[in-house]
Amino acid sequence: MKRENVMIPKPRSAYLSVQCPKCGEMAVVFSHTTTDISCKSCGELLAEPSGSKAVVLGKILGALDQ
Ligand SMILES: [Zn+2]
Repeated sequence: MKRENVMIPKPRSAYLSVQCPKCGEMAVVFSHTTTDISCKSCGELLAEPSGSKAVVLGKILGALDQ
């Protein structure tokens, strides 16, 4: 069975707590974002849209329940 989103802890839409791999700044990223998410501090790309789910490039620390 193919798993396409092993990095994403929950299959449903969620807000993910992501840490910038470059400077360590924390950011909240919507798991189905349709726009690029960049680090507020250093501008590093943290997530980008890919089909229905975002590709998260930073370190996912957890999912925030809504
Ligand atoms: Zn950063």
